[in-house]
Amino acid sequence: MLVLDRTFFINSFEKMAELAEVQRNHWSKLDSDIGDGDHGINMTIGFRDVTKKLDAMRESDEDISELLRSVGMSLMSKVGGASGPLYGSFFMRAANDYKGQMEVTFPEFCQIIKNGVDQIVKIGKAQHGDKTMLDAFLPGLEVLFDQDLENEPIKAFEAFVARMKQGSDETIPLIAKKGRAMRLGERAIGFRDPGSESSWMLMNIYLEELKKI
Ligand SMILES: [Mg+2]
Repeated sequence: MLVLDRTFFINSFEKMAELAEVQRNHWSKLDSDIGDGDHGINMTIGFRDVTKKLDAMRESDEDISELLRSVGMSLMSKVGGASGPLYGSFFMRAANDYKGQMEVTFPEFCQIIKNGVDQIVKIGKAQHGDKTMLDAFLPGLEVLFDQDLENEPIKAFEAFVARMKQGSDETIPLIAKKGRAMRLGERAIGFRDPGSESSWMLMNIYLEELKKI
């Protein structure tokens, strides 16, 4: 069975931070269409704080849950808007499980993601179809847990990310029921939810790192 160690997670965080820099203008543009235009800026601020921690992480003996908590703390404390607490909780929630583990199996990794999404649901109180990041995460998870996690991890995660990407596309024709875009009513139709875009792209970083193992 595929096992993921500290290096997998730390490398993934590094690449997520690079992604945030590259996508900064794109994510902010999406947010300016239907929100306040700061999603890209916020994400880079949060992940720059993560980047500062990477060397210490590599030299530390922090377990998987401590590494995830550390990323969550950065995003929670540095990222403004709604996405900071949501992404912060997504990473931090995983810290409650797998304490003391220096590696996790692929099915445990999938559970970490599910636990994080459950926390987003709890805090954001949004549902599938509300034009939020959950429109990517929730259908993605349904597909993920239908896969053969023990024997076909890459195929499973590819299906997860592909469904998330499709879920992001599916936010375009929706009216927003949460967040700033809610106030726009029908004027939000025709625009993609920025959180749904950043979330599938972040999970795609995990996929790219899985493929390197
Ligand atoms: Mg915003």
